[in-house]
Amino acid sequence: MVPDSAPRIGLGWDRHALVEGRSCILGGVEIPNEVGPKGHSDADALLHALCDAMLGAAGLDDLGTLFPDTDPKWKGAASTQFVEAAVSLLHAQNLVVASADLVVICDSPKLAPHRAAIRANLAQMLDLPVSRVNLKGKTTEGGFGGAVEVQAVVILIAARKA
Ligand SMILES: [Zn+2]
Repeated sequence: MVPDSAPRIGLGWDRHALVEGRSCILGGVEIPNEVGPKGHSDADALLHALCDAMLGAAGLDDLGTLFPDTDPKWKGAASTQFVEAAVSLLHAQNLVVASADLVVICDSPKLAPHRAAIRANLAQMLDLPVSRVNLKGKTTEGGFGGAVEVQAVVILIAARKA
């Protein structure tokens, strides 16, 4: 039997179309940009992928099941709320995030000038040192048709010995 304290890995993925007239919020950081992700909440694809990685590793339902986009309660919601909720669900199972790594794929906005701010924000939300949270931006030279796609992996460990 695998010990309960063994680490758990989770994978998350999300993609939103980038459209005019939407704020561009990624990783909880508002980025000045002419287009932003379209969606029911603030459409923060980065935090959505992160949440799904956390929930997946914990063996829980995914973000869309826990916070359905048909629920008016989540219309325009800040996705930082989803991260807070996911962290609480993890804590209830005696789990914490030990590290996270993300890939953000989009041609606009350029991520590099905002990478440090996003990284710091994620570290703060996950209560981790910045060195345990990382992200990289990838561009597709127009191959992506105006969307932002995010891949996330996290490792969960037991918060304390049971
Ligand atoms: Zn999403």
